[in-house]
Amino acid sequence: MDPTSRSEIREAFGYCRKHTQQLIEAAKNTNQRLSASIVAEDLANHFIKHSKKLLKSGIKSGTGIFKTRKSCPIYKYYDKH
Ligand SMILES: [Zn+2]
Repeated sequence: MDPTSRSEIREAFGYCRKHTQQLIEAAKNTNQRLSASIVAEDLANHFIKHSKKLLKSGIKSGTGIFKTRKSCPIYKYYDKH
């Protein structure tokens, strides 16, 4: 939960579907739930901020939101996805 990985998660707009599922499973019955919810909140706030920025810049299509999306942060650390 260090600031570097949190910004990585933000820039990628979260993990891919597979890793999000793994995170939920791993955090479900542990004290990692708080960390997971902090990341989720952080991500939601970032998404809202980014959406407002896009709205101001005049982009009307919703797909524009993900144009700057980076690949799943976990993918960076493991070769296989
Ligand atoms: Zn992933």
